[in-house]
Amino acid sequence: MSRLDIFINRMTAQRDLLNLLRDQNLLPDGPIMEVGLGNGRTYSHLIETFPDRRFIVFDRHVAAHKTSIPPEEDLVIGEIRETARAYIGSEAALVHADIGTGYPEKDAIVMSWLPELAAGMLRSGGYAVSGLALDHPQLEMLPIPDHLEPGRYYLYRKI
Ligand code: SAM
Repeated sequence: MSRLDIFINRMTAQRDLLNLLRDQNLLPDGPIMEVGLGNGRTYSHLIETFPDRRFIVFDRHVAAHKTSIPPEEDLVIGEIRETARAYIGSEAALVHADIGTGYPEKDAIVMSWLPELAAGMLRSGGYAVSGLALDHPQLEMLPIPDHLEPGRYYLYRKI
């Protein structure tokens, strides 16, 4: 499979899992944490999909399209491993994390700290949607729809 196909499958899975949470009205109350602003495409989708939510958006720098830059008070700039600690206990409804690199050795390091932070920011009954697996005892992995390629994106619910 080409990298283009992999990218398209990953983005399709990301969008469809976020839409599934909306369509089935699954999110409890609470803010949405966008972990990795990047170009802001997912942030753009999130604010359109969940217009009544507060967003807290993490990245080490702002490099988003100018139409998708969060308000300053919603932006947390710095290394997520450090900055997200202050948001443990936020009772978030959703943590979306798109910070995989495609390099297994680098992603393995992220996967050693991201699950604890994601679980810590979520409220019980909240959801995590992530491009990297989040192996944590409080995060129950949920099945994804059949049309999505397994292993491209993951859906969890905090116990
Ligand atoms: N979903 C985004 C979009 O729609 O444009 C793309 C996110 S991009 C793949 C990942 C982003 O996460 C990059 O902007 C990168 O700077 C940020 N990032 C990755 N790891 C990070 C870390 N450990 N700390 C802070 N930012 C990080």
